[in-house]
Amino acid sequence: MVQYSIGLDLGGTNLRAAAIDSTGKMLDKIAGATNFVEGREAVLGDMVAAIEKLREKHGAEGLAGIGAGVPGFIRFKEGYITNSNNLPYFENYPVRDEMEKRLGAKVILENDANAAALGEKWIGAGREHDDLVLLTLGTGIGGGIIYGGKIVRGFVGMAGELGHITVVPNGNPCGCGNRGCLEKHASATAVIAMAHMLHLGENLTAKDVNDIAKQQDEPGEKARAIWAAMGEALGIALATLVNTFNFPLYLLSGGPLPAWDFFAPRMMEVVKQRSYTFRATGTKIEKATLGGEAGLYGAAYLPWEK
Ligand SMILES: [Zn+2]
Repeated sequence: MVQYSIGLDLGGTNLRAAAIDSTGKMLDKIAGATNFVEGREAVLGDMVAAIEKLREKHGAEGLAGIGAGVPGFIRFKEGYITNSNNLPYFENYPVRDEMEKRLGAKVILENDANAAALGEKWIGAGREHDDLVLLTLGTGIGGGIIYGGKIVRGFVGMAGELGHITVVPNGNPCGCGNRGCLEKHASATAVIAMAHMLHLGENLTAKDVNDIAKQQDEPGEKARAIWAAMGEALGIALATLVNTFNFPLYLLSGGPLPAWDFFAPRMMEVVKQRSYTFRATGTKIEKATLGGEAGLYGAAYLPWEK
């Protein structure tokens, strides 16, 4: 009988669940839109239904466990989300226990970026390493730290909130209460906000800003300056992480990745400048390889994490 687990990834716009076997082979995947505005009961119902559907199809006997990646600050032991921009109605609500009750099975609740880092370690860009950091560049910036093949959670479950590292003292205010957080200066949202401020267009996406940067004109120059600023902010944060951990590998994922050639040169320059450890070792900063699937794989791996 095939041993498999079910991973669920609750993203900003969609909910996905997958049945994945112990070798990392995806057996089945369900993807659906999540409508956060529909409220707690609807979102919870969708999560449980997706898992049930996979369990019915692949059998309860072979099911090793269920993992769920969700956005926000996590209280790991209690299975709570304590702070999430997308899911205010899940705050201090026993999400995990409620899922377990409805499913009659154990569920491991984890932060989505932590799950993504675990996924990259399992079968992605980090498979050759036991120690790595992943930064997910999206609406905000998520972080996951893997040490000895396991997620570093801290004493509550909130370790790895790397999007809230200060990179600009007195910089842009952040929802977390701080100013100058990495995600306010280097996320896709931050890049788009800069592009709007410089009048490069309306309703832009990170891809648009990347396209504009390829132009040999004044808007192109402005867009390249935005990517350089974003790279600088990332470089400051990465230098701190390299200095802290001396891990061999730091990975980046998310929507801005196609603009790598525009932001990475400045990013690397800043890391070199600010980190002796980086200059003196073979530390690698690379693109993650699983893309949007990393969180699904990582969530499915949670029951197997030793
Ligand atoms: Zn913050």
